[in-house]
Amino acid sequence: MYVGRFAPTPSGDLHFGSLVTAIASYLDAKKADGQWLLKIDDIDKQRVKNNSVQSILKTLESLNLFWDFTESYQSHRLEEYEFYFEKLSEMNQTYKCDCSRKYLSDNAKIGEDSYIYPGFCKNKGLKNYDNFATRMEVNAIPIVFEDRIQGKLSQNLSKEIGDFIIKRNDGQFSYQFSVCVDNKLDKITHIVRGADLLLSTPRQIYLQNLLDFDIPRFSHIPIATIDKKKISKSDDFKILIKNNQKDIWIKVLNFLNQPISKTVSQMNLEETIEHAIKNWAMEKISPLHSIDVF
Ligand code: GLU
Repeated sequence: MYVGRFAPTPSGDLHFGSLVTAIASYLDAKKADGQWLLKIDDIDKQRVKNNSVQSILKTLESLNLFWDFTESYQSHRLEEYEFYFEKLSEMNQTYKCDCSRKYLSDNAKIGEDSYIYPGFCKNKGLKNYDNFATRMEVNAIPIVFEDRIQGKLSQNLSKEIGDFIIKRNDGQFSYQFSVCVDNKLDKITHIVRGADLLLSTPRQIYLQNLLDFDIPRFSHIPIATIDKKKISKSDDFKILIKNNQKDIWIKVLNFLNQPISKTVSQMNLEETIEHAIKNWAMEKISPLHSIDVF
């Protein structure tokens, strides 16, 4: 059984880029007769904005993007995160870290995805104080996976990323860690999301292997950019629904390079979506990391 999901961070209203991910993950799940879940990534309290959950749910519903089952919230899963965090801690491959941002920016090399952490605190033997971050030790065995859109990717975690944070110094579990537990709890088989998370995937595969979780299939779709810059939820590109649902769907289908019927003008929203599911062809999506829109 295919189980996919859309996992927005409620840091603002949905914008064109986040909607592309929602629609691509929805179509891939529905084409496979699978389930499509909605998970609200609200664990990072600093990023969560008031009312954005309601606004996201409303936008999805008004575009006929109905999720299966009740949506889940990361903030309701702290016990489960703690349970698996303890499991990782018992493996003796984690350690505490007190490096400040300033220290890292002065001393660590910048890699493709932020700083490469070379283990400054590994042998410091810092004790269990709450205001230290917890890092996961990595190794040099390449993590190789086949992305359905981006193709084969290989990453040497110790060379390219370094030991990474699973719990932050403010006590919050990191995205890299919590998303792995979510996949396990939700029995996710397929992940379709933005290519800005492509380089995170080997860290997630590494954790899922350590915890003996199944590894989902990954598809990373190009992110929508404006003048080569990622559209952020704080930009003014939020989706405004004003009886224009079909136009929005068609704009997204065009971005995803999907076939659009010549008779689409005679179709209503339901028929347009049905047509999009039937003709969904992931292989037509460009393997670029980003595409400029507007
Ligand atoms: N919550 C993340 C975001 O909004 C996506 C996480 C994921 O799909 O794994 O960018």
